[in-house]
Amino acid sequence: MSTAIVTCPLCEATCGLEVEHDGPQITAVRGDKLDVFSQGYICPKGVSFKALHDDPDRLTTPLVKRDDVFEEVSWDDAFAEIERRLLPLREKYGNNAVAIYLGNPGAHNLGSLLYGRVLYKALGTQNIYTAGTVDQVPKHFSSGYLFGDPLTIPIPDLDRTSYLLLLGANPLVSNGSLMTAPDIRGRLKGIRTRGGRIVVVDPRRTATADVADEHLAIRPGTDALFLAALTQVLFADKLGDLGRLADHVLGVDEVGELVAPFTPEAVAPIIGITADDIRRVARALAAAESAAVYGRIGTTVQSFGTLASWLVDVLNVLTGNLDRAGGAMFPLGAAGQTNSVPGRRRGFTHGRWRSRVRNLPEVMGELPVATLAEEILAPGDGQVRALLTVGGNPCLSTPNSDRLTAAVEQLDFMVSLDVYLNETSRHADVILPGPLPLARAHFDLLFYQLSVRNIANWTAPAIETELPQEWQTILRLVGIVTGQGADADISAIDDFIAGESARRAGLDVELAGSRTGPARLVDLMLRAGPYDVTLADLEAAPHGIDFGPLQPRLPDVLSTPSGKIELAPPAITVDVPRLVAELERPPDPFVLIGRRQLSSNNSWMHNLAPLVRGSNRCTAHLHPDDAEQLGLADGALALVRSRTGQITVPIEITDTVRPGVVSIPHGWGHGLDGTRGSVASSHAGVNSNILADDLLIDALSGTAVLNGIPIEISAAK
Ligand code: SF4
Repeated sequence: MSTAIVTCPLCEATCGLEVEHDGPQITAVRGDKLDVFSQGYICPKGVSFKALHDDPDRLTTPLVKRDDVFEEVSWDDAFAEIERRLLPLREKYGNNAVAIYLGNPGAHNLGSLLYGRVLYKALGTQNIYTAGTVDQVPKHFSSGYLFGDPLTIPIPDLDRTSYLLLLGANPLVSNGSLMTAPDIRGRLKGIRTRGGRIVVVDPRRTATADVADEHLAIRPGTDALFLAALTQVLFADKLGDLGRLADHVLGVDEVGELVAPFTPEAVAPIIGITADDIRRVARALAAAESAAVYGRIGTTVQSFGTLASWLVDVLNVLTGNLDRAGGAMFPLGAAGQTNSVPGRRRGFTHGRWRSRVRNLPEVMGELPVATLAEEILAPGDGQVRALLTVGGNPCLSTPNSDRLTAAVEQLDFMVSLDVYLNETSRHADVILPGPLPLARAHFDLLFYQLSVRNIANWTAPAIETELPQEWQTILRLVGIVTGQGADADISAIDDFIAGESARRAGLDVELAGSRTGPARLVDLMLRAGPYDVTLADLEAAPHGIDFGPLQPRLPDVLSTPSGKIELAPPAITVDVPRLVAELERPPDPFVLIGRRQLSSNNSWMHNLAPLVRGSNRCTAHLHPDDAEQLGLADGALALVRSRTGQITVPIEITDTVRPGVVSIPHGWGHGLDGTRGSVASSHAGVNSNILADDLLIDALSGTAVLNGIPIEISAAK
């Protein structure tokens, strides 16, 4: 029996876990009380680590589809099949004929993070899609133009703030997102214990709203109007105070002119929050000793996702709360953070290429996934004919998923790197599984850059595996697409990648000694990073290293062309007239929003019995007044329709949603032919993304509208 100390790779909170195991058999999972960050915190998903390892439906062998039936094959045969079928397509139709989709688990997988980008480059395709455009890309877009880098994102200084304004965020259930903070409940409680105040703005009275001082039930999709009105009050009442930011900000007066139409009286009837409440919140925000405004998925997956993300930080700047203790601050990750190198003046840009069918601009090198189906379906030069999915399930988790499902069925070839035969990978011709989490090295390269404290923690693989690591699988694919063949020497490719990384960092690659793969790259990044640590230091500190609370980082953190915070960038403000027009638009009678669930992780953990036990959670929440008007009883089946499709779903009557709002969680809709998931099939639920309209996107970032989808609802016949 051994005990492994690992960082949980299942969400952004990066909790330390203590895993007792006998070889690959896990016997117990507990929170690691000595973890410098999470201090013993664990959630139900972390506990399910054992169920994940024990899941008999997990794939452990490559599969190749022959005559519509999957056969288990050797790794060599699987790669030979990919070489045989992918290369001729690329040769004949060009690089853009091959698309790649990276799902959310890829952000938690060190191998995918470090080596996936090598594969994208090798493929040379402009058809790169990720789960980011059904999630957080608007925040990257706004941060890129405000601060110069899409990953220069201010994070609420939760442990010191005295006023927290949360919009479209339910961290008590999500465990934090774009805000790495284990034990959110404890941290929020800390704010109130210190005498601080928490205000939640959300169409639902969420679990987070329940522990807040105040909940404002905003109409879905109108956060940008609310934020613009708060900003207008700051200008009208002269409440803004840039403080030490004054020397570092351009464009303040322009912002004042842009928000002038958004008076509380103009905005209130649209958003469902009174003008008095808008003024009161603006004044409290300005008067707070320290304050942070934080918007999350409810504010990004809507028509004005980028404007809302921008205005969140406009408020942080105008109240002088950006980059100060208790405000919204910039973390300093130990490894791989581009903004840790001062003096860069490259700035951010987007639209370097556009999608073929809808002419949508790329953002951060990717196209909106809402356009993937038409890129596959529409004939012509550049048509997508092959798809590679990496840890994703877009047929469940992206808009108009019925259309995307129909599209992937028409592909000439599809490969999935996945541990499950799910609603997407069932369409693949080849499936390549990856190892269990306990068999992988782990380091939260991204999430330490979004953390409420500066932390680093390395997890070494705790068990042996016969499966190749994801990074090795990816390098074999790189070998194929670069013409080195399915038997390419991946050690040589890895050496080359490490050599290039070292060269760019001005280091000698030999410093990393005999390490290979992700461990070598992380060691080099740590050596090039802002703290005097190496991977050996992290290996000697299994509970992590705490580099302390966030520190002010202006102006070095900025990489805009001006070296200042560019508060009114034209690439963002160009969309303000559309927001002005919104003041005249009558609200839709019913709109659909999502619903985060603590025991759920998008679509991929529904095959774990401990996480799905109990009553059906895939229900439509409906306000009692609406239920009465529609003649719907609690538990009755409702037919919910949108432009793109319809679903039948049980109703749960609750006053936690505001009238006119229907809330259905996404990621459900299992049990389809060809999938393998015995538990998920018996807790199938319905796929709410059938209702999400692929034509509704944030105009700037192309991110899908998943919050505020116009729908009709009636009793199911
Ligand atoms: S909160 Fe996230 S990181 Fe922590 S145990 Fe749960 S799933 Fe794992």
